[in-house]
Amino acid sequence: MKGQLPVEKFNNIRTPFYYYDTELLQQTLDTINEEAGKHAGYKVHYAVKANVNPKVLQLIRHAGLGADCVSGGEIKAALDAGFPANEIVYAGVGKGDWEINLGLDADIFCFNVESVAELEIINELAAAKSKTAHVAFRVNPDVGAHTHANITTGLAENKFGIALDDLIPTIERAHKMANIEFIGLHFHIGSQILDMNDFKKLCKKINEIQAELDAKGISVANINVGGGLGIDYDNPEAAPIPDFKKYFDTYATNLVLREGQTLHFELGRAVVGQCGSLITRTLYVKQGTHKQFVIVDAGMTDLIRPALYQAHHKIENLSSREPLRTYDVVGPICESSDVFDKAIELPCCHRGDLIAIRSAGAYGEIMASQYNCRQLPKGYVTEDL
Ligand SMILES: *Cc1c(COP(=O)(O)O)cnc(C)c1O
Repeated sequence: MKGQLPVEKFNNIRTPFYYYDTELLQQTLDTINEEAGKHAGYKVHYAVKANVNPKVLQLIRHAGLGADCVSGGEIKAALDAGFPANEIVYAGVGKGDWEINLGLDADIFCFNVESVAELEIINELAAAKSKTAHVAFRVNPDVGAHTHANITTGLAENKFGIALDDLIPTIERAHKMANIEFIGLHFHIGSQILDMNDFKKLCKKINEIQAELDAKGISVANINVGGGLGIDYDNPEAAPIPDFKKYFDTYATNLVLREGQTLHFELGRAVVGQCGSLITRTLYVKQGTHKQFVIVDAGMTDLIRPALYQAHHKIENLSSREPLRTYDVVGPICESSDVFDKAIELPCCHRGDLIAIRSAGAYGEIMASQYNCRQLPKGYVTEDL
């Protein structure tokens, strides 16, 4: 069954570790291709920052997705995984010179530029190589997504993107630069978005912007709407694959494309989130004054989302079928925020029980740190077990 864990195979592996269900990932990719393929000119890129496990990247590449990178390291990871340079887009407010040079040397498809200051440097560095950099401007559409404040990126006062009022002057400036070719507009309003109205609002904004650009005679070859489609963290087994049909149909219905325009997407969480679980083992069950703690061997160093964003992940005891008890599930790290969840019900826990923290395929392993001199968790795919 989709999304079920091969528990018996976990016993011999040192915990904590990440497990990626490649069958589910493949089904997710097939669904993306099927639904995006219904619309002419749609191109999906994978937001590499969500997960760079080499086997996960391989599957995504084989499915034909492009790569959306936010650093030179990610461009390298994408190239190493076989993503063709002409399907790599590169965003980020603070691109270093070496990272821009790497993108220029590889001839990536597009730099998603976030300021005039950056545009000038890209032009200079491209000139030094006698190259032309393809750029899209990341526009801040002032659309707020109904999601956690730390992962909202499209509001007016935000470090990301170029303010709407500055867009036309910036495009006109780019047109005058010898080593810059303006090829598109880029947007990304946030992450873990489940309300399609947020994407509708973005479409409406883009329609307005396109009408303004038409009036100025500015043509745009590519529209990139970023990513942000959310997953169901509460029901990983009932909803293992996000509703890509609804997502792409929202754009098809609400966004007016011009003749020949390509519409790009940059999906991260929706591609890899549900296929991953963090598998950990119960070290101790501790009776506190008023509550019981399950202390597991994974911590915020392995999965920081709960501590960083108050994110909720479904937690399962894979070893016990005993009656439910109420627990706080915590890690071993010397920080009070090292808590995976509070007051949740789990089958009675004992030392040694395997615990799965679900929906951890995106922004999990890649955000792991070595704080407290811990080892980084390993990642295994189905075929490794
Ligand atoms: C993080 C990011 C994405 C992917 O976001 P998801 O919510 O994982 O889909 C896409 N585009 C840009 C520019 C990003 O920074």
